[in-house]
Amino acid sequence: MRILVTGGAGFLGSTLCKRLISEGNRVICLDSLVTGRLANISELIGRRDFRFIRQDVIKPISIEGPLDEIYNLACPASPNKYERDPVHTFRTSIFGAENVLQLAAAKKARVLQASTSEVYGDPELSPQPESYRGSVNTFGPRACYDEGKRGAETLFYEYGIHRGVETRIARIFNTYGPQMAADDGRVVSNFIVQALTGQPLTIYGTGEQTRSFCYVDDLVDGLIRLMRAPEGSKMPVNLGNPGEFTVKELAQMVLEKTGAKLPLVHFDLPKDDPRQRRPDIGLAGALLGWAPTVPLSEGLDRTIAYFRSEIDQEGMPREMEA
Ligand code: UDP
Repeated sequence: MRILVTGGAGFLGSTLCKRLISEGNRVICLDSLVTGRLANISELIGRRDFRFIRQDVIKPISIEGPLDEIYNLACPASPNKYERDPVHTFRTSIFGAENVLQLAAAKKARVLQASTSEVYGDPELSPQPESYRGSVNTFGPRACYDEGKRGAETLFYEYGIHRGVETRIARIFNTYGPQMAADDGRVVSNFIVQALTGQPLTIYGTGEQTRSFCYVDDLVDGLIRLMRAPEGSKMPVNLGNPGEFTVKELAQMVLEKTGAKLPLVHFDLPKDDPRQRRPDIGLAGALLGWAPTVPLSEGLDRTIAYFRSEIDQEGMPREMEA
């Protein structure tokens, strides 16, 4: 197949591009490199079955020749990155979604939207099933991302249900693994890099808030299965690992696994930071026969090994953000 991956130089996107190429597909990767990195796709550049286009998904996309599938992964996903230019983040979700939907309509391609557990906001029930409509603040620092992603789902609904485009929506829960940027700012990469470079681990708030962490290979497997799900599978589907941990538990695991003896330092909890998050993955199981296979303990081992080799090669990683 000939497949377009927007955001293909990002953490998830680059892992997806490699997997699709390894299956024998031809892949076009479109990325603005705002948060994506060429280093993530360096092993693919120069291959005949891979093409990189540097472009912002906000601009109309024109691709020559046929396309079978489009994965729309283009958007900063770490709070401290997407809050840096909130209007651009919002436009990326909305205009990006419409641009890929129009391209999919023109090419008669299937199109998958990387949506997010953030559509549930600060959830009042746990675990969160797809039927839960969420508790989202429209008027706050996370709204550029949350409401942008919700608006993108609305566009997918309209083009999918009323304009005949074969759409898919994955609601992706916290994902981690090799290829995350050391300065990404999210909790797993922050803690590991801090532990490996002898800095205190930065806990926001009390650390009692929870997240459910999915290893990247499991997540990519879920995305591909969802894309290839039977015709008409247009409803949003949660993809994530239901194992739920407090931020403090995660810090303890990272300290144990790295052997680091470091203090925890507390910072203010960011506004609207969700207090709990855990996916109900019943629908993904029934529709896709999918469930994650890598427990947090094992995924952390692999991710720590990745960051160890990155840090050995480069010395101290780039600026850490508290
Ligand atoms: N967090 C933390 N220390 C960090 C980074 C994040 O305590 O160095 C917390 C953050 O406040 C949130 C959780 O960890 O409660 C997950 O944050 P992340 O940015 O990874 O993802 P989110 O789920 O908030 O998008």
